[in-house]
Amino acid sequence: MSQETRKFEAEVAQVLHLVTHSLYSHKEIFLRELISNASDACDKLRFEALADPSLTDGDADLRIQVTWDPEARTISVRDNGIGMSRDEVVANIGTIASSGTRRYLEALSGEHKADARLIGQFGVGFYSAFVVADKVTVITRRAGQPEVAGVRWESDGKGEYTLEDANVTERGTTVVLHLKADEDEFLRSWTLRGAITKYSDHVAFPIRMPADKDGKPDPTEWTTVNSASALWSRAKSEISDEEYQNFYKALGHDFNDALAWTHNRVEGSQSFTTLLYVPEQPPFDLMMGGRDERKGLKLYIKRVFIMDAAEELLPNYLRFVRGVVDADDLPLNVSREILQHNRQLEQIKARCVKGVLDLLERIARDEPEKFATFLAGFGNTLKEGIVEDATNRERIAKLLRFASTKGEGAAKTVSFDDYIGRMAVGQDTIWYVTADSYAAAAGSPQLEALKAKDIEVLLMSDRVDEWMLGYLTEYAGKRLRNVAKGDFPLDEADKAKQEAAATAAAPLLERAKALLGDRVKEVRVSARLTDSPSCLALADFDMAPHLARLLREAGQ
Ligand code: ADP
Ligand code: MG
Repeated sequence: MSQETRKFEAEVAQVLHLVTHSLYSHKEIFLRELISNASDACDKLRFEALADPSLTDGDADLRIQVTWDPEARTISVRDNGIGMSRDEVVANIGTIASSGTRRYLEALSGEHKADARLIGQFGVGFYSAFVVADKVTVITRRAGQPEVAGVRWESDGKGEYTLEDANVTERGTTVVLHLKADEDEFLRSWTLRGAITKYSDHVAFPIRMPADKDGKPDPTEWTTVNSASALWSRAKSEISDEEYQNFYKALGHDFNDALAWTHNRVEGSQSFTTLLYVPEQPPFDLMMGGRDERKGLKLYIKRVFIMDAAEELLPNYLRFVRGVVDADDLPLNVSREILQHNRQLEQIKARCVKGVLDLLERIARDEPEKFATFLAGFGNTLKEGIVEDATNRERIAKLLRFASTKGEGAAKTVSFDDYIGRMAVGQDTIWYVTADSYAAAAGSPQLEALKAKDIEVLLMSDRVDEWMLGYLTEYAGKRLRNVAKGDFPLDEADKAKQEAAATAAAPLLERAKALLGDRVKEVRVSARLTDSPSCLALADFDMAPHLARLLREAGQ
């Protein structure tokens, strides 16, 4: 049992290959990933020590150390956090535990190319070490375990790794990277320091480096390289945009900037801080329609990391939001079960939703271009809120934009408020049509009569629209109606004309009914059309043809 060689899971080899190739132009990311693991390990220890303070005995000063060795050509990242037992090493490094990674792999074999932007989101962070190293050694000991329970893991990243028992004097984990031949730049302290300040400045634990004496580390003199304070706990006025963006990138494992953020402190019967970001582009999972990868919103209590709690703190339709919630008044020993039925948390959640909707309203009003970017990435996700969040239905509806017969072609730029602003005197209905595509909606014969009367019609062609509109029957006191459904409103002159037409067409209708038989409910003269001779229409409560088709495709 002392020493053994094991094979990586087949998927690990695949991930390794992808990671090393797709991260090639962002090499220094490995340091961010290893430091982020070290910081997670310190968070975990601090959390576990709440229940068992003896875990931090002898060394309560949680920290991360980065050093280099020009002769051995190694760099190492060390933390005195939670550490790993032998079983944990096997489970966490060398297998792919998260379902996210599996889906990631499946997806990459499909239409999406390996994209560096997506890596860290899937718990493949550790493997980025192999971008610059041809051998990685992990030496670790779990907090609370004796020195002899240490473990040494080593691999060249080619399919196998070795594991052996080791005597490890200090609690925590050291990751040693044996650099590839052409990666000497990372043997310079300023390269390491630069990468740390760029990507890991916000890390809440001190990241320390030894002084540089003629290129060599001096282990007698350590300095803290990052600012090591919880960014969200600082005053807004003291935080630069760059600091906000760097924090976002580390938090969201994103290479892109955030589109916008909102940072708020609530004081009162319940005090808490929220820092919430809207990304610029949808994360991978969202593009895949995924729902269970719910990372990205971290719950802290008095600056102690408690857990990823996106599910407890945000409704599903805001699952793209990333950020931090730090509550002052929750008990530190909360469990997920407690959180799910906690009234304080309900209030915090409501504030998060309000914060995000306020932010989106502000962008919609002040920065239309940014808002268009947001809608392109997340507009359809937001529409789910119409169904999910009855309380905020009207606020969400206000943010939506559609193509329209009076809009700019296929561009989705018309809001319900724009529509209402253009309504004719006395018009009390917002008309829309749904179809598979913009072209089908715009070309629908159902629109003719309304167009002839110069009445605007919203053209809806996203998959979620039909479902959403089932829940949105009204906006600002105006009824929403599908052009294809039910009877058409007529003015008096039209009515007379239609009666005359109906009488004249009676024999034709009889004949059409006889020909079509059971395939139609009714054949009648319609006021809908001006140019086309005929169209299919639905009764008020019939399913739209496009939704019926969707359901048929889904086998219902
Ligand atoms: P992620 O951090 O997204 O879970 P990683 O590939 O970065 O994915 O790390 C995989 C797992 O290995 C972590 O979840 C953690 O359990 C374990 N691990 C990595 N580094 C450390 C460390 N320094 N201390 C303790 N555990 C670690
Ligand atoms: Mg990680």
